[in-house]
Amino acid sequence: MAEIERGIYFVEEIAKGIYKIYEQRNAAVYLVIGEKKACLIDTAYGLTDLKELVSEYTDLPVTVINTHGHIDHVLGDHWFEDVYLHHSDKAMYDEITEEFSQMIKEPWVLDFYGDFIKGLDVDSVNFPVSKDITEGDVIDLGGKTLEIYEMPGHTEGSIIVVDRADKICFSGDSIIENLWLFLEESTEPAVYLDSLKRVRRILSDSGIEKIYNGHFSYEPIALPKLDTMVKAMEMIISGELEGVPVENHAGKGVEYSYDGWNVICRK
Ligand SMILES: [Zn+2]
Ligand SMILES: [Zn+2]
Repeated sequence: MAEIERGIYFVEEIAKGIYKIYEQRNAAVYLVIGEKKACLIDTAYGLTDLKELVSEYTDLPVTVINTHGHIDHVLGDHWFEDVYLHHSDKAMYDEITEEFSQMIKEPWVLDFYGDFIKGLDVDSVNFPVSKDITEGDVIDLGGKTLEIYEMPGHTEGSIIVVDRADKICFSGDSIIENLWLFLEESTEPAVYLDSLKRVRRILSDSGIEKIYNGHFSYEPIALPKLDTMVKAMEMIISGELEGVPVENHAGKGVEYSYDGWNVICRK
């Protein structure tokens, strides 16, 4: 469906009542609207009024679910009151949200968002206390439910959100074309592989057809891609796959590529 531009956001309806909101073609936020309430999955950097944008699509109460505690998924939380996050990412979340006023002055933020954040009063930003969300939680939106499953790997507290009615999974940074497992807060590859195998079974049993991640991609990931990912992780763990050293703004790691899928591990 056609994409609509709203300041730093690009909005596209990907299924009936489900909107993908790209922030500067970087982080992706998803708005899922039920009959009784709506859910926002992640809030990106949220540097302009995300609540106002959401209000153009629904006037129902909005619950925010964070797929994990990373800065590019949670900073927009301050526009909302009802916010959920897995307890294992809570310490990171608290640190990141406390440092917001520092982050907003960083040169790359000004480069990327300068024109849009001119009017933002950093001192008036208040983050709500996040509530815990964990394996087995179900959010009833009225007419559809969202199921929560833990998927430790990218971070300890990463979760995925499953919408069986629409055959969609929202995977944050946990199922993604370029997976980062090299961060300090990432788990060992074997932990991620266990998560991946378990989630593959859950998604398959739930009839999920499309996996939408928390960043830019042209197409959702289809379920068979998880077989490629499982195979790649097994080969990395057994030492069969050769990696190349890489370095980026988040640190150093070893990048592995297999059948069109990439992952950066610590070694
Ligand atoms: Zn992340
Ligand atoms: Zn991310």
